[in-house]
Amino acid sequence: MAEPQLRVPGPTPLPERVIRAASRQMINHRGPEFAALLEEIVTSMRWALRTESDVLIYPCSGSGGLEAAVVNVLSPGERALFCTMGSFGDRWAHIADAYGVDVVRLSVRPGEAIDPEDVDRILAEHGDIATVYVTHNETSTGVVNDLPSIAAVVKGRGKLLCVDSVSGASCIPLDTDRLAIDILVTGSQKGWMAPPGLAMIAVSSAALQRAGTATCPRFYLDFARQKKYQDKQQTFSTPAVSVLYALQEGLRMMRDEGLENVWARHARVARMIRAGAGAAGLKLLAAEGHRSDTVTAVHSPADSPEALKGLLTHLRTRHGLVLAGGQDALQGKIFRIGHLGWIDDADVYAILAGLEQGLVDVGLRSRVGMTVAAAQAEGRNAQAESAGVSGRQPDAAEDRRESVGAPSTV
Ligand SMILES: *Cc1c(COP(=O)(O)O)cnc(C)c1O
Repeated sequence: MAEPQLRVPGPTPLPERVIRAASRQMINHRGPEFAALLEEIVTSMRWALRTESDVLIYPCSGSGGLEAAVVNVLSPGERALFCTMGSFGDRWAHIADAYGVDVVRLSVRPGEAIDPEDVDRILAEHGDIATVYVTHNETSTGVVNDLPSIAAVVKGRGKLLCVDSVSGASCIPLDTDRLAIDILVTGSQKGWMAPPGLAMIAVSSAALQRAGTATCPRFYLDFARQKKYQDKQQTFSTPAVSVLYALQEGLRMMRDEGLENVWARHARVARMIRAGAGAAGLKLLAAEGHRSDTVTAVHSPADSPEALKGLLTHLRTRHGLVLAGGQDALQGKIFRIGHLGWIDDADVYAILAGLEQGLVDVGLRSRVGMTVAAAQAEGRNAQAESAGVSGRQPDAAEDRRESVGAPSTV
């Protein structure tokens, strides 16, 4: 039996190199080996996030990072804007609710992105809002925001900008300092080829300054305390040493590949997944132009939540393909394919072939053989575009004509 293919949007599969790194012996977290480990990771995180800011690393999941971005810069009763496109945007607003923040919500229907003009309008209406929270890549719907445009609006009005890029950073183009993002939250188990357990948070000097006056109660997640320790190459509490080993190795792999190559690989793989899904007649939840390069949400091809569950169970048990269902209100209505971190073209072929066969097995489709061909054609297009080759590559239909002897059109 082949190893199951874990293709949920986190945790993501680990390269062998990372697994070996994570299984190393422990070290003194107040000693020189740890100092070197932390220094390398922080330097590489700055490289990957394109920032000169402090990158604080906490032993908690991404949600802990979201909480840190609330409690360090807001005060109870203060008004703040939360832009939400789905479950993770909602979670951020709920965290703020729990601390007594006066939450102004900008929400959109599942599958839609935030309109920067709406952000501008709300900020014009509520002059007392000093901080804006926005999800870069909404994992529950497979939608990516136009972050540069949103950032331009928020920073144009002089507000603090906090971004959840837990499932975007390292995979999708992100220029933290150029966009002047004040707090950027990401998590080890999504695009970083590491296990769950770390929140990595880039914090600007403006955010640190704000933390000096913000009065939300906090202790474990306090930026100032963590920064004091990291400034001497330690962490306040015992760090998740094994996960840090893994993150270090994942970052080394990314440095070997080159950041823009990592982004291009994710863009290509996502195009291939979307082309394959389309060839199987599957419909995507995310609006055109806002489709995520790390997770694809697909409308259920089944006529009931039970039948969708049956498909996902069949894919897992018969084809070793582990996909994710929908969250919250989207449960039973969509399924999601995670394509982030350690993934390349060959993995896409396996995902699509397994999915397509599964659809036929459970009677939701009657033919196989379309998805991989469509993905191959789209992959060639992406490759040609990124190599700067002009002109279009033959598409899947043309490939089929070619294989029966007709001349190909280029
Ligand atoms: C995964 C994720 C989180 C955090 O989730 P944890 O399970 O706490 O790590 C937050 N936001 C987004 C967009 C995510 O994808």
